[in-house]
Amino acid sequence: MPWVGGKIPEVRSNQTIGPSSKWRVSEFIYRDSSSWKANLVRERFVWKDAWSILAMEVPKEEGEDYRYWNFTKSGRFSVSSGYDYLFNKYAVDSRTLDDHDLVALRLIWKLNILPKWKYFVWKIFYDGLAVKVNLVRRGLNCDTMCNYCGLGEEDLQHVLRFCSVAELSWNTSSLRINPFENESWPLRKWLRSYILLYHSEDGWNGGRLQNFIALLWSLWKVRNARVFRGEGGHPGAVFAMLENQLQEVGTFTSGREESPIGGPREPPGYHMVHIGREKAFHNGLECDLACQKSGKAGWGMAISSNLLFEGETAGDHGRAVSSVHAEAKACLLALTWASNRQISQLRVNTDSAALISYLHMGKVSDISIVGTIGDIKAMGCRFRQCTILKVPRQEVDKADNVARRCSILGYSIP
Ligand SMILES: [Zn+2]
Repeated sequence: MPWVGGKIPEVRSNQTIGPSSKWRVSEFIYRDSSSWKANLVRERFVWKDAWSILAMEVPKEEGEDYRYWNFTKSGRFSVSSGYDYLFNKYAVDSRTLDDHDLVALRLIWKLNILPKWKYFVWKIFYDGLAVKVNLVRRGLNCDTMCNYCGLGEEDLQHVLRFCSVAELSWNTSSLRINPFENESWPLRKWLRSYILLYHSEDGWNGGRLQNFIALLWSLWKVRNARVFRGEGGHPGAVFAMLENQLQEVGTFTSGREESPIGGPREPPGYHMVHIGREKAFHNGLECDLACQKSGKAGWGMAISSNLLFEGETAGDHGRAVSSVHAEAKACLLALTWASNRQISQLRVNTDSAALISYLHMGKVSDISIVGTIGDIKAMGCRFRQCTILKVPRQEVDKADNVARRCSILGYSIP
């Protein structure tokens, strides 16, 4: 049975083939302590596979067996993951936004605009709209040239910025934008610069930001009408759509000045999670996390903003199946550290967006990490406030040093 990372683990050459075909996984587990029989595993499997086995979590309690699809993090089958699997192209989507993008997205989320626009802008940032270049990337067989101007490949940058219809629309709109200014900037950076500019100059109720997003939306809608319904797709159609959209948003926002628009308070992927009893942000004791995952894993934490504990660190080393697994262990270590010192309010900084995503999930089904995430959540409840926040890598420098030392030298710093 291929039970280790989708493969059958390799048996050491000094083992006899006959009996090895009858080994069962349960033979390698201590039932009482829910842990691997490390010596037996090392004795029977080659070093690399033994390592992989020992890094796997053993469930603490007996549970019903269930089907697990190994190619989505949720463990549930989806057509698109099956498709990717068949084409042997499966890779976890690692496109993450940088912190400037997150600031811009969060700002969009707080605007009093149509919710569909928010998701639209969010999808642009994740390059998640079905333009031809993205379809081809997903394995669809079609030509990628823009069928309006024929002058470039149809990616989002083209549709929303460089296509002749987009260029003319931006130039003649009330915003008077020349989309070829800063031509080398990727679309995300270009969008972000206008979002931040309009917001800083006009504030929350400025019309320019709204017009900017409405024009993006109109370009996209008119492109779709052209591609799917064969409509002309000229700038005239873009402006008609724009007018129509601005009316819609006018109706939508009238009488809504007081309360912000419903729906999730943070854009998907905005990285913060409260696991304490009070779901509030705490600015007192801060603790940074980091991990090293090259060969032997190491993880560490460092207190960064508290006079009493300033500069204190803790770290450990051991096995982890992935960097997020190691980061989760760092998080658990930090919570244990704080709990032992009777600290009730804590903010934990991590540069791992994946860790935050796992902590956000109601039920984690990724079997490689479910135990550690469960332990973190259980421990989090003991704190009055406990927030895990995504921060840039450079902010967790000190913890990173600790993790490196623990990984290389095999330290444990309690
Ligand atoms: Zn074009």
